[in-house]
Amino acid sequence: MKTTDKFLYIDKEAVATLAMARDGLLKPVTNLMNQKESEEVNITGKYKGEIFPFPFLLAPSGKRNNHVLQTSKKGDILKFICDNKEIGHIIVDEIFPIDKENRVKQIYGTNSKEHPGAHDTSSRLGDLAICGDYKIQFDDIKEHKQQIDEMVKNTEAKNISSIILTGKPFHRVHERLVRSALQKCDLLIILLRKPYKDDELSFDVRFKTIQHFIDHFIAKDRVLLLPLENTYIFGGVNELTLNAIVSKNYGATKLLLGQNHTGLGAYWDHKKLISRVDTLEKINIGIELFNEFVYCEKCTTLVSTNACPHGTHHHVKYDKDTLMELFRLGIIPPSILIRKEISSMILSDLFPERKERLERIYQNITTSSGVIDVFKCEDFYDGLMDLYHTTSLT
Ligand SMILES: [Zn+2]
Repeated sequence: MKTTDKFLYIDKEAVATLAMARDGLLKPVTNLMNQKESEEVNITGKYKGEIFPFPFLLAPSGKRNNHVLQTSKKGDILKFICDNKEIGHIIVDEIFPIDKENRVKQIYGTNSKEHPGAHDTSSRLGDLAICGDYKIQFDDIKEHKQQIDEMVKNTEAKNISSIILTGKPFHRVHERLVRSALQKCDLLIILLRKPYKDDELSFDVRFKTIQHFIDHFIAKDRVLLLPLENTYIFGGVNELTLNAIVSKNYGATKLLLGQNHTGLGAYWDHKKLISRVDTLEKINIGIELFNEFVYCEKCTTLVSTNACPHGTHHHVKYDKDTLMELFRLGIIPPSILIRKEISSMILSDLFPERKERLERIYQNITTSSGVIDVFKCEDFYDGLMDLYHTTSLT
Protein backbone atom coordinates (compact mmCIF):
# COMPACT_ATOMS: atom_id res chain seq x y z
CA MET A 1 0.00 0.00 0.00
CA LYS A 2 1.49 3.32 -1.04
CA THR A 3 1.11 6.36 1.21
CA THR A 4 -0.68 8.18 -1.58
CA ASP A 5 -3.35 5.47 -1.73
CA LYS A 6 -6.78 6.36 -0.42
CA PHE A 7 -8.82 3.89 1.59
CA LEU A 8 -12.41 3.35 2.61
CA TYR A 9 -12.93 1.09 5.61
CA ILE A 10 -16.05 -1.02 5.28
CA ASP A 11 -17.42 -4.02 7.19
CA LYS A 12 -18.39 -7.51 6.05
CA GLU A 13 -22.05 -6.61 5.81
CA ALA A 14 -21.26 -3.82 3.39
CA VAL A 15 -19.03 -6.15 1.34
CA ALA A 16 -21.77 -8.79 1.03
CA THR A 17 -24.40 -6.17 0.24
CA LEU A 18 -22.25 -4.63 -2.51
CA ALA A 19 -21.67 -8.10 -3.97
CA MET A 20 -25.40 -8.84 -3.94
CA ALA A 21 -26.08 -5.77 -6.07
CA ARG A 22 -23.17 -6.43 -8.43
CA ASP A 23 -24.20 -10.06 -8.96
CA GLY A 24 -27.79 -9.18 -9.81
CA LEU A 25 -29.58 -10.29 -6.63
CA LEU A 26 -31.06 -6.84 -6.05
CA LYS A 27 -32.10 -6.09 -9.63
CA PRO A 28 -33.29 -3.53 -10.79
CA VAL A 29 -30.42 -2.22 -8.62
CA THR A 30 -27.00 -3.31 -9.85
CA ASN A 31 -24.89 -0.36 -8.75
CA LEU A 32 -24.77 2.33 -6.08
CA MET A 33 -27.27 5.13 -6.66
CA ASN A 34 -26.24 8.72 -7.28
CA GLN A 35 -27.87 11.69 -5.60
CA LYS A 36 -30.54 12.23 -8.26
CA GLU A 37 -31.51 8.55 -8.34
CA SER A 38 -31.66 8.40 -4.53
CA GLU A 39 -33.98 11.37 -4.39
CA GLU A 40 -36.26 9.75 -6.97
CA VAL A 41 -36.40 6.47 -5.05
CA ASN A 42 -37.15 8.43 -1.87
CA ILE A 43 -40.20 9.96 -3.51
CA THR A 44 -41.49 7.13 -5.71
CA GLY A 45 -40.31 3.91 -4.04
CA LYS A 46 -39.27 2.82 -7.53
CA TYR A 47 -36.02 2.48 -9.45
CA LYS A 48 -35.98 2.17 -13.24
CA GLY A 49 -39.74 1.68 -13.07
CA GLU A 50 -39.55 -1.25 -10.65
CA ILE A 51 -40.19 -1.44 -6.93
CA PHE A 52 -37.23 -0.78 -4.69
CA PRO A 53 -37.95 0.40 -1.17
CA PHE A 54 -35.00 2.67 -0.39
CA PRO A 55 -31.94 4.25 -2.05
CA PHE A 56 -29.06 1.84 -2.43
CA LEU A 57 -26.17 3.74 -0.87
CA LEU A 58 -22.71 3.32 0.53
CA ALA A 59 -22.10 5.82 3.34
CA PRO A 60 -19.48 4.37 5.65
CA SER A 61 -19.04 6.00 9.06
CA GLY A 62 -15.87 6.97 10.89
CA LYS A 63 -13.48 9.92 10.90
CA ARG A 64 -11.00 8.37 8.47
CA ASN A 65 -13.72 7.58 5.93
CA ASN A 66 -15.25 11.01 6.32
CA HIS A 67 -11.91 12.69 5.67
CA VAL A 68 -11.28 10.59 2.55
CA LEU A 69 -14.77 11.27 1.21
CA GLN A 70 -14.45 14.99 1.85
CA THR A 71 -11.15 15.22 0.00
CA SER A 72 -11.85 12.94 -2.98
CA LYS A 73 -13.07 13.96 -6.41
CA LYS A 74 -14.58 12.34 -9.47
CA GLY A 75 -12.24 9.77 -11.03
CA ASP A 76 -10.26 9.06 -7.83
CA ILE A 77 -9.77 5.42 -6.97
CA LEU A 78 -10.53 4.53 -3.36
CA LYS A 79 -9.48 1.10 -2.11
CA PHE A 80 -11.86 -0.89 0.07
CA ILE A 81 -10.40 -2.27 3.29
CA CYS A 82 -12.30 -4.88 5.31
CA ASP A 83 -10.75 -6.58 8.37
CA ASN A 84 -7.34 -5.09 7.47
CA LYS A 85 -7.41 -6.58 3.99
CA GLU A 86 -7.78 -4.85 0.68
CA ILE A 87 -10.85 -6.38 -0.94
CA GLY A 88 -11.65 -4.12 -3.88
CA HIS A 89 -12.00 -0.52 -4.96
CA ILE A 90 -14.41 2.11 -6.19
CA ILE A 91 -13.90 4.78 -8.84
CA VAL A 92 -15.53 7.96 -7.54
CA ASP A 93 -18.41 9.25 -9.59
CA GLU A 94 -20.25 11.36 -7.02
CA ILE A 95 -19.94 12.05 -3.31
CA PHE A 96 -23.00 13.62 -1.70
CA PRO A 97 -24.53 14.25 1.73
CA ILE A 98 -27.32 12.04 3.09
CA ASP A 99 -29.96 12.50 5.75
CA LYS A 100 -28.96 9.83 8.27
CA GLU A 101 -32.09 9.90 10.40
CA ASN A 102 -34.31 9.63 7.36
CA ARG A 103 -32.25 6.78 5.96
CA VAL A 104 -32.57 4.70 9.13
CA LYS A 105 -36.29 5.38 9.21
CA GLN A 106 -36.64 4.18 5.63
CA ILE A 107 -35.01 0.87 6.42
CA TYR A 108 -36.48 0.17 9.85
CA GLY A 109 -39.67 2.20 9.89
CA THR A 110 -38.27 3.90 12.99
CA ASN A 111 -35.14 5.73 14.02
CA SER A 112 -35.65 5.07 17.71
CA LYS A 113 -32.47 4.35 19.63
CA GLU A 114 -34.39 1.53 21.33
CA HIS A 115 -34.67 -0.47 18.09
CA PRO A 116 -31.51 -2.61 17.95
CA GLY A 117 -31.30 -2.77 14.15
CA ALA A 118 -32.01 0.92 13.72
CA HIS A 119 -29.44 1.77 16.37
CA ASP A 120 -26.77 -0.44 14.74
CA THR A 121 -27.35 0.91 11.29
CA SER A 122 -27.39 4.46 12.57
CA SER A 123 -23.91 3.98 14.03
CA ARG A 124 -22.62 2.38 10.81
CA LEU A 125 -23.78 5.31 8.69
CA GLY A 126 -21.67 8.33 7.82
CA ASP A 127 -22.82 11.72 6.56
CA LEU A 128 -21.52 11.28 3.01
CA ALA A 129 -22.48 8.68 0.41
CA ILE A 130 -20.31 7.63 -2.51
CA CYS A 131 -21.26 6.13 -5.85
CA GLY A 132 -19.30 4.87 -8.83
CA ASP A 133 -18.24 1.62 -10.45
CA TYR A 134 -16.72 -0.79 -7.95
CA LYS A 135 -14.99 -4.13 -7.70
CA ILE A 136 -15.28 -6.35 -4.66
CA GLN A 137 -13.90 -9.77 -3.76
CA PHE A 138 -16.88 -11.89 -2.79
CA ASP A 139 -17.74 -14.86 -4.99
CA ASP A 140 -20.37 -16.74 -2.96
CA ILE A 141 -23.37 -15.37 -4.80
CA LYS A 142 -21.98 -16.22 -8.24
CA GLU A 143 -21.38 -19.76 -6.99
CA HIS A 144 -24.94 -20.02 -5.67
CA LYS A 145 -26.29 -18.86 -9.01
CA GLN A 146 -24.23 -21.53 -10.76
CA GLN A 147 -25.58 -24.18 -8.39
CA ILE A 148 -29.13 -23.10 -9.20
CA ASP A 149 -28.45 -23.05 -12.95
CA GLU A 150 -27.06 -26.55 -12.81
CA MET A 151 -30.01 -27.88 -10.85
CA VAL A 152 -32.50 -26.18 -13.18
CA LYS A 153 -30.72 -27.78 -16.11
CA ASN A 154 -30.70 -31.24 -14.52
CA THR A 155 -34.33 -31.16 -13.45
CA GLU A 156 -35.64 -29.06 -16.38
CA ALA A 157 -37.48 -27.12 -13.72
CA LYS A 158 -40.10 -24.58 -14.80
CA ASN A 159 -41.86 -23.91 -11.52
CA ILE A 160 -39.28 -22.81 -9.00
CA SER A 161 -40.35 -21.93 -5.48
CA SER A 162 -38.31 -20.34 -2.76
CA ILE A 163 -38.76 -20.25 0.98
CA ILE A 164 -36.71 -18.21 3.41
CA LEU A 165 -35.95 -19.71 6.80
CA THR A 166 -34.00 -18.88 9.92
CA GLY A 167 -33.90 -22.50 11.01
CA LYS A 168 -33.73 -21.69 14.69
CA PRO A 169 -34.62 -24.49 15.10
CA PHE A 170 -35.79 -26.42 12.02
CA HIS A 171 -38.91 -28.23 13.26
CA ARG A 172 -41.69 -30.51 11.99
CA VAL A 173 -43.79 -27.69 10.56
CA HIS A 174 -40.85 -26.63 8.43
CA GLU A 175 -40.56 -30.22 7.23
CA ARG A 176 -44.23 -30.17 6.36
CA LEU A 177 -43.86 -26.89 4.45
CA VAL A 178 -40.93 -28.24 2.46
CA ARG A 179 -42.75 -31.45 1.60
CA SER A 180 -45.96 -29.76 0.51
CA ALA A 181 -44.00 -27.15 -1.45
CA LEU A 182 -42.26 -29.95 -3.33
CA GLN A 183 -45.58 -31.39 -4.44
CA LYS A 184 -46.36 -28.17 -6.28
CA CYS A 185 -43.02 -27.13 -7.77
CA ASP A 186 -40.21 -28.64 -9.82
CA LEU A 187 -37.44 -27.15 -7.74
CA LEU A 188 -37.37 -25.66 -4.27
CA ILE A 189 -34.73 -23.17 -3.16
CA ILE A 190 -34.40 -22.86 0.61
CA LEU A 191 -32.64 -19.64 1.54
CA LEU A 192 -31.26 -19.81 5.05
CA ARG A 193 -30.63 -16.45 6.68
CA LYS A 194 -26.96 -16.07 7.50
CA PRO A 195 -26.60 -13.64 10.37
CA TYR A 196 -23.78 -11.15 10.82
CA LYS A 197 -23.77 -11.49 14.58
CA ASP A 198 -22.83 -14.48 16.67
CA ASP A 199 -25.83 -16.44 17.78
CA GLU A 200 -26.29 -19.19 20.38
CA LEU A 201 -27.32 -21.53 17.56
CA SER A 202 -24.62 -21.16 14.95
CA PHE A 203 -25.38 -20.78 11.27
CA ASP A 204 -23.31 -23.90 10.55
CA VAL A 205 -25.48 -26.07 12.79
CA ARG A 206 -28.67 -24.66 11.33
CA PHE A 207 -27.39 -25.38 7.84
CA LYS A 208 -26.33 -28.88 8.86
CA THR A 209 -29.72 -29.76 10.37
CA ILE A 210 -31.65 -28.71 7.28
CA GLN A 211 -29.18 -30.37 4.92
CA HIS A 212 -29.56 -33.58 6.95
CA PHE A 213 -33.32 -33.47 6.43
CA ILE A 214 -32.88 -32.81 2.69
CA ASP A 215 -30.33 -35.59 2.25
CA HIS A 216 -32.30 -38.27 4.09
CA PHE A 217 -36.00 -37.55 3.94
CA ILE A 218 -37.01 -35.85 0.70
CA ALA A 219 -36.21 -35.84 -3.03
CA LYS A 220 -32.86 -34.17 -2.60
CA ASP A 221 -32.24 -33.66 -6.30
CA ARG A 222 -35.07 -31.12 -6.33
CA VAL A 223 -34.10 -29.05 -3.29
CA LEU A 224 -31.24 -26.62 -2.92
CA LEU A 225 -30.21 -25.10 0.39
CA LEU A 226 -28.32 -21.82 0.13
CA PRO A 227 -27.21 -19.19 2.61
CA LEU A 228 -28.84 -15.77 2.34
CA GLU A 229 -26.48 -13.03 3.49
CA ASN A 230 -28.77 -11.40 6.00
CA THR A 231 -27.27 -7.92 5.96
CA TYR A 232 -28.81 -4.73 7.37
CA ILE A 233 -30.92 -4.12 4.26
CA PHE A 234 -33.09 -7.10 5.30
CA GLY A 235 -33.39 -5.93 8.87
CA GLY A 236 -36.44 -3.76 8.82
CA VAL A 237 -39.88 -3.15 7.41
CA ASN A 238 -38.75 -3.89 3.86
CA GLU A 239 -37.62 -7.42 4.63
CA LEU A 240 -40.44 -9.07 2.73
CA THR A 241 -40.04 -6.83 -0.31
CA LEU A 242 -36.33 -7.61 -0.45
CA ASN A 243 -36.97 -11.32 0.09
CA ALA A 244 -39.26 -11.26 -2.94
CA ILE A 245 -36.69 -9.33 -5.02
CA VAL A 246 -33.85 -11.69 -4.09
CA SER A 247 -35.99 -14.80 -4.71
CA LYS A 248 -37.04 -13.54 -8.12
CA ASN A 249 -33.45 -12.74 -9.06
CA TYR A 250 -32.38 -16.22 -8.01
CA GLY A 251 -34.91 -17.45 -10.58
CA ALA A 252 -37.86 -18.34 -8.34
CA THR A 253 -41.34 -18.01 -9.79
CA LYS A 254 -43.03 -18.25 -6.41
CA LEU A 255 -42.21 -17.18 -2.86
CA LEU A 256 -43.71 -19.21 -0.02
CA LEU A 257 -44.59 -17.44 3.20
CA GLY A 258 -46.00 -18.57 6.51
CA GLN A 259 -49.30 -16.82 7.18
CA ASN A 260 -48.09 -15.68 10.58
CA HIS A 261 -44.94 -14.09 9.16
CA THR A 262 -44.34 -10.98 11.24
CA GLY A 263 -43.84 -8.75 8.22
CA LEU A 264 -47.08 -9.73 6.55
CA GLY A 265 -49.46 -7.18 8.04
CA ALA A 266 -51.30 -4.47 6.20
CA TYR A 267 -49.76 -1.00 6.16
CA TRP A 268 -50.66 2.55 5.23
CA ASP A 269 -49.10 4.00 2.15
CA HIS A 270 -50.11 7.42 0.81
CA LYS A 271 -53.16 7.20 3.05
CA LYS A 272 -54.29 3.93 1.49
CA LEU A 273 -54.45 0.64 3.33
CA ILE A 274 -52.47 -1.91 1.35
CA SER A 275 -51.58 -5.46 2.18
CA ARG A 276 -47.95 -6.39 1.77
CA VAL A 277 -48.96 -9.19 -0.57
CA ASP A 278 -50.23 -6.63 -3.09
CA THR A 279 -46.83 -4.93 -3.12
CA LEU A 280 -44.98 -8.22 -3.40
CA GLU A 281 -47.00 -9.24 -6.42
CA LYS A 282 -45.92 -6.06 -8.22
CA ILE A 283 -42.43 -7.54 -8.13
CA ASN A 284 -43.68 -10.22 -10.53
CA ILE A 285 -43.29 -13.17 -8.30
CA GLY A 286 -46.16 -15.37 -7.17
CA ILE A 287 -46.85 -15.38 -3.44
CA GLU A 288 -48.25 -18.38 -1.63
CA LEU A 289 -49.32 -18.20 1.98
CA PHE A 290 -49.16 -21.25 4.18
CA ASN A 291 -51.64 -21.91 6.94
CA GLU A 292 -50.60 -22.24 10.52
CA PHE A 293 -49.86 -25.82 11.55
CA VAL A 294 -50.19 -27.42 14.98
CA TYR A 295 -50.02 -30.92 16.42
CA CYS A 296 -53.53 -32.09 17.32
CA GLU A 297 -53.73 -34.75 20.04
CA LYS A 298 -57.13 -35.89 18.73
CA CYS A 299 -56.04 -36.15 15.09
CA THR A 300 -52.67 -37.43 16.41
CA THR A 301 -50.87 -35.67 13.59
CA LEU A 302 -49.75 -32.31 12.28
CA VAL A 303 -52.80 -30.38 11.10
CA SER A 304 -53.61 -27.01 9.63
CA THR A 305 -55.60 -24.98 12.16
CA ASN A 306 -58.39 -24.29 9.68
CA ALA A 307 -58.76 -27.94 8.70
CA CYS A 308 -58.98 -29.56 12.14
CA PRO A 309 -62.35 -29.52 13.95
CA HIS A 310 -60.86 -29.88 17.45
CA GLY A 311 -60.40 -26.83 19.63
CA THR A 312 -57.14 -25.08 20.39
CA HIS A 313 -57.00 -26.87 23.77
CA HIS A 314 -56.14 -30.05 21.82
CA HIS A 315 -53.34 -28.34 19.89
CA VAL A 316 -49.62 -28.26 20.58
CA LYS A 317 -47.98 -25.23 19.02
CA TYR A 318 -44.64 -25.20 17.27
CA ASP A 319 -43.26 -22.21 19.03
CA LYS A 320 -39.61 -21.66 18.16
CA ASP A 321 -38.85 -19.76 21.35
CA THR A 322 -40.21 -22.56 23.49
CA LEU A 323 -38.17 -25.10 21.53
CA MET A 324 -35.02 -23.02 21.92
CA GLU A 325 -35.72 -22.72 25.65
CA LEU A 326 -35.86 -26.53 25.92
CA PHE A 327 -32.50 -26.76 24.14
CA ARG A 328 -31.01 -24.12 26.44
CA LEU A 329 -32.06 -26.28 29.39
CA GLY A 330 -30.43 -29.26 27.71
CA ILE A 331 -33.73 -31.10 27.28
CA ILE A 332 -34.44 -32.99 24.08
CA PRO A 333 -37.83 -31.90 22.65
CA PRO A 334 -40.46 -34.57 21.85
CA SER A 335 -40.01 -35.95 18.37
CA ILE A 336 -43.45 -34.77 17.26
CA LEU A 337 -41.96 -31.27 17.50
CA ILE A 338 -38.46 -31.85 16.17
CA ARG A 339 -36.87 -34.82 14.47
CA LYS A 340 -34.58 -36.52 16.96
CA GLU A 341 -31.49 -36.43 14.72
CA ILE A 342 -31.87 -32.68 14.45
CA SER A 343 -32.32 -32.25 18.20
CA SER A 344 -29.23 -34.39 18.74
CA MET A 345 -27.13 -32.19 16.48
CA ILE A 346 -28.31 -29.05 18.23
CA LEU A 347 -27.73 -30.37 21.78
CA SER A 348 -24.30 -31.73 20.85
CA ASP A 349 -23.35 -28.33 19.55
CA LEU A 350 -24.75 -26.40 22.51
CA PHE A 351 -23.16 -28.65 25.17
CA PRO A 352 -19.80 -29.91 23.87
CA GLU A 353 -18.43 -30.19 27.43
CA ARG A 354 -20.86 -33.00 28.26
CA LYS A 355 -19.22 -35.49 25.96
CA GLU A 356 -17.31 -37.64 28.47
CA ARG A 357 -20.22 -37.99 30.86
CA LEU A 358 -22.61 -38.84 28.05
CA GLU A 359 -20.25 -41.48 26.72
CA ARG A 360 -20.20 -43.26 30.10
CA ILE A 361 -23.99 -43.25 30.32
CA TYR A 362 -24.27 -44.36 26.73
CA GLN A 363 -22.14 -47.44 27.38
CA ASN A 364 -24.48 -48.45 30.20
CA ILE A 365 -27.79 -47.92 28.49
CA THR A 366 -27.14 -49.25 25.03
CA THR A 367 -27.24 -52.85 23.98
CA SER A 368 -24.82 -52.48 21.12
CA SER A 369 -21.95 -54.77 21.95
CA GLY A 370 -20.13 -54.12 18.70
CA VAL A 371 -17.12 -51.90 18.39
CA ILE A 372 -18.09 -48.25 18.61
CA ASP A 373 -16.06 -46.19 16.19
CA VAL A 374 -15.72 -42.83 17.82
CA PHE A 375 -18.36 -41.72 20.28
CA LYS A 376 -20.32 -38.64 19.29
CA CYS A 377 -22.75 -36.85 21.59
CA GLU A 378 -25.40 -37.33 18.90
CA ASP A 379 -25.21 -41.10 19.53
CA PHE A 380 -26.25 -40.55 23.13
CA TYR A 381 -29.27 -38.36 22.38
CA ASP A 382 -30.42 -40.62 19.52
CA GLY A 383 -30.04 -43.71 21.71
CA LEU A 384 -31.89 -42.14 24.62
CA MET A 385 -34.73 -41.07 22.37
CA ASP A 386 -35.02 -44.63 21.05
CA LEU A 387 -35.29 -45.88 24.62
CA TYR A 388 -38.06 -43.40 25.39
CA HIS A 389 -40.04 -44.97 22.57
CA THR A 390 -39.48 -48.52 23.82
CA THR A 391 -42.38 -49.96 25.86
CA SER A 392 -42.54 -53.02 28.12
CA LEU A 393 -45.05 -55.69 27.19
CA THR A 394 -45.73 -56.94 30.71
ZN1 LIG B 1 -57.72 -32.35 15.39
